Amino acid sequence: MPKSGVIILKQGREKSALNFHPWIFSGAIDTKRTNQHEIENGALVEVRDYQGQFVGRGIFNIDSAIRVRLLSWDQNEAIGPAWWRVRLAQAIAARQTLAERDDLSTYRLVNAESDGLPGLIVDRYGDFLVVQFLTLGVEVRKEMIIEALSDLIKPLGIYERSDVDVRQKEGLDESVGLLWGDPLPERVEIVEYGVRYPVDILQGHKTGFYLDQRDSRHWLLTSPLVGGRDVLNCFAFTGGFGVCAALNGAASVVNVDSSQPALDIARETMSINGLESGDATYVNADVFAQLREYREAEREFDLIILDPPKFAHSAKQVEKASRGYKDINMLAFQLLRPGGLLATFSCSGQVSPDLFQKIVFGASADAGVQAQIIKWLAQPEDHPVLLSFPEGRYLKGLICRVMR
Ligand code: SAH
Repeated sequence: MPKSGVIILKQGREKSALNFHPWIFSGAIDTKRTNQHEIENGALVEVRDYQGQFVGRGIFNIDSAIRVRLLSWDQNEAIGPAWWRVRLAQAIAARQTLAERDDLSTYRLVNAESDGLPGLIVDRYGDFLVVQFLTLGVEVRKEMIIEALSDLIKPLGIYERSDVDVRQKEGLDESVGLLWGDPLPERVEIVEYGVRYPVDILQGHKTGFYLDQRDSRHWLLTSPLVGGRDVLNCFAFTGGFGVCAALNGAASVVNVDSSQPALDIARETMSINGLESGDATYVNADVFAQLREYREAEREFDLIILDPPKFAHSAKQVEKASRGYKDINMLAFQLLRPGGLLATFSCSGQVSPDLFQKIVFGASADAGVQAQIIKWLAQPEDHPVLLSFPEGRYLKGLICRVMR
């Protein structure tokens, strides 16, 4: 293990850490009293306030603006392999009710900071685990974490998908590949509330599938409001929302996405769920342009889904992102028949739920329609948000109904 050091905070900069926020930014550190260059990168450090009082223990990274990620606020707690194992076991135990369902084989086992394990994502896809190591702290402890996971879950294989931009902010390159056990098949078939989804874990987005939209898929699969509707599923990826709507009696489904491989899997998903090929169409196009084309053609729908990729990656991008959200939502309102439903999402953490609702309101006003919110949607229970870490909340959705 790397040798440890001590970090002294500037006066007044201990407050959020004492309230269990796990991040210490570089600017909070009293650099006159802390020799950061003596500390080995990735090592466990003790954080103290300006008076020398213990605040917590965490992992140090000189290459990151988030200089320390706190793991413990208990001075007597030792953070060795046993600690990691206990934390992993706690996160896994918190998903026990999901694990016990026989109609669900896929869910998130570890949600990073919000499970007290900064930087670590573990998703379960049936017999396989897919992991992301987003910070140096977990990167240098990879072997020990994998050993604990293989022992606690006994999967067939553990695959890494740390091909994410945020690793750059930690001074890390992308890293992808088999870490343990059997290699992945080309498609891993998962089950979610009885619906079967073929997943391409090697190439698919995130860890292969949008596990964070499970509650929204469930709404589309079970709501009595979906039957008989003409559905337009924008940013469809592998067509999860479209399949749920079709299984719930939608009259027609159009899936629009700019990725042909994703649309190919959408087609497979329809067929392995016993749906006819005529139940859905697949349009490889840019959603912004396609919605305008439908408007020109005076095409109408009864249920439009908008689940775009993250538009805002930083606070600076919020304004531009807001214009993007407003544009597609306005177009969608224009394409909806009276009584039509809009299921609209944003996964930009920087866009607050309040701001998102305002943007959707602005879009409805620009489209000249009145609409009601009939449901608020969010990330599901296996993507929890720590109260002391509101940054963990990113996904929000509204289901709106256009007034007749
Ligand atoms: N709704 C999906 C997830 C959507 S992720 C699900 O529940 O599984 C965003 C998707 O938008 C990706 O599949 C990406 O290929 C697609 N995409 C990104 N920009 C696009 C654009 N301008 N037009 C069409 N599709 C786009």
